Amino acid sequence: MSLGIDMVPMKTCSFNCIFCQLGCAPKTIVVRDEYVPLGEIADEFRDWLAHSASASYITLGGSGEPTLHSGIGKLIDLIHGLSSIKVAVLTNGSLLTDEDVRLSLCKADLVKVSFSAFDDESLRKINSPDVGIEFNSYYNGILDFRRSFKGEMWLEVFIVQGVNDKQSEVSKIAKMAIKIGADRIQLNTVVRPPANEGVKPVSHEQMLELVKLFGSTAEIIADQQVMTGLGKRGIDESEIVAMAKRHPIRALDVCALYGCTEDEASGKLVALVEQGVLSRHLASGTCYYKVMDQK
Ligand code: SF4
Repeated sequence: MSLGIDMVPMKTCSFNCIFCQLGCAPKTIVVRDEYVPLGEIADEFRDWLAHSASASYITLGGSGEPTLHSGIGKLIDLIHGLSSIKVAVLTNGSLLTDEDVRLSLCKADLVKVSFSAFDDESLRKINSPDVGIEFNSYYNGILDFRRSFKGEMWLEVFIVQGVNDKQSEVSKIAKMAIKIGADRIQLNTVVRPPANEGVKPVSHEQMLELVKLFGSTAEIIADQQVMTGLGKRGIDESEIVAMAKRHPIRALDVCALYGCTEDEASGKLVALVEQGVLSRHLASGTCYYKVMDQK
């Protein structure tokens, strides 16, 4: 159970990954700034603590690259100062070349880094990074971070059909991933609707073969991404819409969040489609719902 904190406006990111569920961004961003005032985040967090504080992790990530927020280290200190809840950061790793980012993330309890390429060309194909980002420094930044970070580090490797799924390509990614020495390596593929509709998942059978290349700490996480909530409670439409704004959701996610049946969840989602609030998208044989103005 995790409380997500979005630290940057929607799709503020140094990458423009082809599999991104937030859609395509008009441009990539590498400038660090206080995109959302730290005081506002702190006030919301204090309010949440006072009302419903129940989570095993506070997760910094969500709508873009959280290390672009210049106050991420201060926010981690603030969360640790106000609560005993652990802090996780989801990052694409591209800013780990910056010492201030590395020092800030060293304050977290868990850092999960995306790592799906093995050279400049593969990085361009799968992650479409900002023009100033090149593979060797990106990789060395991750290695430097691992050396100084004492917490738990996970890597997420995203495999896309026809882009980085050849055995020879995945072997190179695996060799580099193993050298990083993460505590856990998670293999994922296209499950939620991606930025580019032509982007396809690899089969489960292929994932089972590929995961063997990454050694004993590796696991497949595709198909496991069900949000979990607090058990049976009333379905809150505004909460569903707020979630669908951040990423596409399924009836199963609504079930897990409210402890309702799949029929109840689907009924609510279909009603929101009929009201013109949500739209339906099919991906990997599963129906996902997004807010209407999202591409
Ligand atoms: S998947 Fe993550 S790293 Fe890639 S573009 Fe989307 S927000 Fe950025």
